[in-house]
Amino acid sequence: MEKIISFCKRRGFVFASSEIYGGFAAVYDYGPYGVELLNNIKSAWFKSMVQENDNIVGLDSAIFMHPKVWEASGHVGGFADPLTECKKCNTRHRLDTMLEEAGISADEKMSAEEINKIFDDNIEKIICPLCKSKDFTKAKKFNLLVQSNLGNLTDDRTKDPVYLRGETCQGIYVNFKNVLDSTRVKVPFGIAQVGKAFRNEITARQFIFRTREFEQMEMQYFVKPEDEMKDYEIWREKRLQFYLDLGIKKENLRWHKHENLVFYAKEAYDIEYNFPFGFKELEGVHARGNYDLTQHSKFSGQDLDYLDPQTNERYIPHIVETSAGAGRTFLAIVSEAYTEEKVEDEERVVLKLPAKLAPIKVAVFPLLKNKPELVSKAKEIFDGLKLEMRVEFDDNGNIGKRYRRQDEIGTPFCVTVDFDSLEDESVTIRDRDTLKQDRIKISKIKDYIKSKLELA
Ligand code: ATP
Repeated sequence: MEKIISFCKRRGFVFASSEIYGGFAAVYDYGPYGVELLNNIKSAWFKSMVQENDNIVGLDSAIFMHPKVWEASGHVGGFADPLTECKKCNTRHRLDTMLEEAGISADEKMSAEEINKIFDDNIEKIICPLCKSKDFTKAKKFNLLVQSNLGNLTDDRTKDPVYLRGETCQGIYVNFKNVLDSTRVKVPFGIAQVGKAFRNEITARQFIFRTREFEQMEMQYFVKPEDEMKDYEIWREKRLQFYLDLGIKKENLRWHKHENLVFYAKEAYDIEYNFPFGFKELEGVHARGNYDLTQHSKFSGQDLDYLDPQTNERYIPHIVETSAGAGRTFLAIVSEAYTEEKVEDEERVVLKLPAKLAPIKVAVFPLLKNKPELVSKAKEIFDGLKLEMRVEFDDNGNIGKRYRRQDEIGTPFCVTVDFDSLEDESVTIRDRDTLKQDRIKISKIKDYIKSKLELA
């Protein structure tokens, strides 16, 4: 993990927030290459939802919402993790996580009494990860919603709390009717959204795995009550396939079934990835019944029924939810792609990203920096490509060094302009993984790369 963290910083993928001020706990910034990779992940997700499925539409709802939304959703009363404090070193920990790590079934959604009972029965097995003590306080539930004073123009910060959304899906539920009324969707249909969410996480020590500000990629699929479990199974398969298509190996993914379901849920599974610190949740796929729309109907006083145009049946649709974290997917993809290997008698670090996710698709080099005719030819190629894909121009250092720099950030192709190029209008194009060099016509570079990127 340390290697991944320092790599991410060194090569401009991820920086600690406000680093010059000593950082800001559990908040991170994405650097010049990181933002490209993150955007590519988010657009691959959005495409896999909205473009590949005729009955899924997009949405971008606001981060701030009416405070009642969070009462209806249960977040004001119940969005809380069980927190315990080590009496020896005074650090706070999530009890559900510590129990799970000790092989004892527990869930953050249990009440304080329920989880404390399990805690008491297993007290000998729970050890402080920092000081190894076994002396803890009883767990208390700690609410994760982040409050703001938006719209409160008094000095009283406790008055009328408005929240930064704790999950993006509430914006989808409250727009269910708007989407139905403004588009031609019919049940079954989905609404997909990518956006920021905020949680006052207690233990946030695993780099971008758990942050207090993060992005979710959520799709809520509205179905006929009797179709819920059938569609749920279909979505479980599709979601696993999504990660395989991004180049994650099958053996690094697994399903985790939730044993302690909230009362309204029919079934819940997580997709877990084998992070450098072990298998952990990447995405949740949940069959949520009609709880969400029922709650919002009750709290808003608006009718959120669906009238089936064919059967004239009226019902509140059930929901299959797929909920992934963009940052966690980023970390999974980088962990999967980061490779140290020996090639041509030299050690190299190479990020073996699928071409469609690579921050830079192609780098263009003049063989020598001090030959103006090579530089201007390379610049011409660079200019011809830059509006179509992310390209980098590099004339600094020897060719080997330039290759290594691009390998590290996962650039799949490098184009080199040499003296022959001036005569035959051809260049060498080198493949990041095979190191194979092809000689191709300059006029063919675009098509060559596009065909490899599956864009053509
Ligand atoms: P965890 O058990 O790890 O706290 P969760 O079950 O609370 O996660 P959900 O509420 O189901 O997570 O959110 C869906 C997805 O959002 C998660 O699978 C994860 O990818 C992402 N996510 C949730 N919390 C965070 C966070 N604090 N930092 C980064 N990503 C997060």
